[in-house]
Amino acid sequence: MYNFKLVNHCWNCNKEHELNDQLAQTNVKCDCGGYVLTPSGKGLHEIKLTCNVYKFHDGENHWIAANTEQEARKLFEKDYSDDLEYTVELINNEDLHKKTIDNIEFIEEDGTKWTSLKQIVLETKHIPSVIASSVY
Ligand SMILES: [Zn+2]
Repeated sequence: MYNFKLVNHCWNCNKEHELNDQLAQTNVKCDCGGYVLTPSGKGLHEIKLTCNVYKFHDGENHWIAANTEQEARKLFEKDYSDDLEYTVELINNEDLHKKTIDNIEFIEEDGTKWTSLKQIVLETKHIPSVIASSVY
């Protein structure tokens, strides 16, 4: 997997904590007094993307994974230079997880596969990159 970091949420206040080597640790506390890792080593883990996903609309939709909007715009304008007018929106965390966002389909050898933008980003080695397109 690429473009991710593992965070732990406090069991009490839900604040995010990044631990260096969580497997070697137990009994880690948050500044609120709640546990980040319990004495037996249990944590509320989450895989978070370290880049953003932007949706470009120019009549078609294109999703670009990039660190900044500026970086995404630069790639978009290079790859789709014929399209002068477009809109950009940042995909929120909830939509990154949806498996049916705007009906993104991937045709694999064994048939159609529904996936989420997050899963695609985790499988994308180079950022910035166009990760999906759809034509209406
Ligand atoms: Zn806390």
